[in-house]
Amino acid sequence: MKKIAILGSTGSIGTQTLDIVSKNDDLQVVGIAAGRNIDLLEKQIRQFSPRLAAVGDEKKAQELKLRVQDTDCKVVGGMEGLIELAVMEKMEILVTAIVGMIGIRPTVAAICAGKHIALANKETLVTAGHIIMPLAKEHNVKILPVDSEHSAIFQALNGENPKTIEKLLITASGGPFRGKKTEELKNIRVEDALKHPNWAMGQKITIDSATLVNKGLEVMEAKWLFDVDLDRIQVVVQPQSVIHSMIEFKDGSIMAQLGTPDMRLPIQYALYEGERRYLDGERLDFARLASITFENPDMETFKGLPLAMQASKTGGSMPTVFNAANEKAVALFLNRKIGFLDIYEIIENAMNEHEVILNPTVEEIINIEQDVYKRIEGRW
Ligand code: NDP
Repeated sequence: MKKIAILGSTGSIGTQTLDIVSKNDDLQVVGIAAGRNIDLLEKQIRQFSPRLAAVGDEKKAQELKLRVQDTDCKVVGGMEGLIELAVMEKMEILVTAIVGMIGIRPTVAAICAGKHIALANKETLVTAGHIIMPLAKEHNVKILPVDSEHSAIFQALNGENPKTIEKLLITASGGPFRGKKTEELKNIRVEDALKHPNWAMGQKITIDSATLVNKGLEVMEAKWLFDVDLDRIQVVVQPQSVIHSMIEFKDGSIMAQLGTPDMRLPIQYALYEGERRYLDGERLDFARLASITFENPDMETFKGLPLAMQASKTGGSMPTVFNAANEKAVALFLNRKIGFLDIYEIIENAMNEHEVILNPTVEEIINIEQDVYKRIEGRW
């Protein structure tokens, strides 16, 4: 039995992880955590019988405690609760499927406790990659990518020497507004931005896909995961989302991973640490697909990608500012307080105002995040 815990069990990645667990007898969920959705947490407790459930919101934690007092599940709340879950005894893999920088502290705690990480929460690696990667090495902990692009690279690297990588080719669907120009993006509504052409995901990442911020975050994530410089990472738009990413090796050979857009595949591959297991679902039908097309990303219109590249090149605390400003801007956009293009303006302003700290500690990262949030709140 492989024992896992899930940070963010009620979300898109979290529920798909539980789907995999329900279909594999050798996986056991010992801990689950969410922010506020205690209705779903209660159902999950009754179905999967975890030993521990953590709720980000303290009040909701108290409510859940009362609701499940007839079970053997202990309920904890707040950041302390998330950390208690991250270091649970006998748990082997922590799936970080929480959204945003709130994942940093539990991830660091889990690594220090020797837990392998199935990492979906890219924001953690983007802002604290310089802390996470050396720490994982020190504690002999695997960082197993869940993001489909990084899983594709992880799969294409199987049996290869990472030193022979020439470059990484990260594919992108281009999002729902591919082909549109700035003028056409002015009056984009939240409903339009939430319609991703190929993937069903949580709200924040869906907006990030529409702005291409998500692709920028993925480039930064890839840099840390595979230790490849930024100038050897290329983004290729492949609108059908069939090729999930590729590696070009030193001899010119390119290895790609293909499949239908189904996040359960990379989740399962991470949970089994690179071992292939049966997975139900649709298979690629090349006759029906007919063609796979490629184009360059439109960096002028979709500024999320070049701003991310700039943040990553600057390094230090700048990726934190990029990410925190984006998190706040996306929340404002989802609450209909700002327009779609304001997201870029908010990120750009936050980056321009920031004085870079070279190697920020976890405390500094969290303080910078709060500072960026406050500045934006004061203005919008
Ligand atoms: P969702 O919005 O669907 O789910 C987010 C999860 O985080 C929910 O379980 C939510 O709980 C929980 N959460 C939010 N705030 C807190 C908090 N303060 N304390 C504890 N739990 C909290 O997100 P996704 O599943 O789409 O994305 C999760 C991560 O995975 C993101 O970093 C995303 O970038 C990454 N990712 C997602 C992909 C996808 O296909 N969805 C693909 C690749 C990466 P509650 O329900 O109670 O709010």
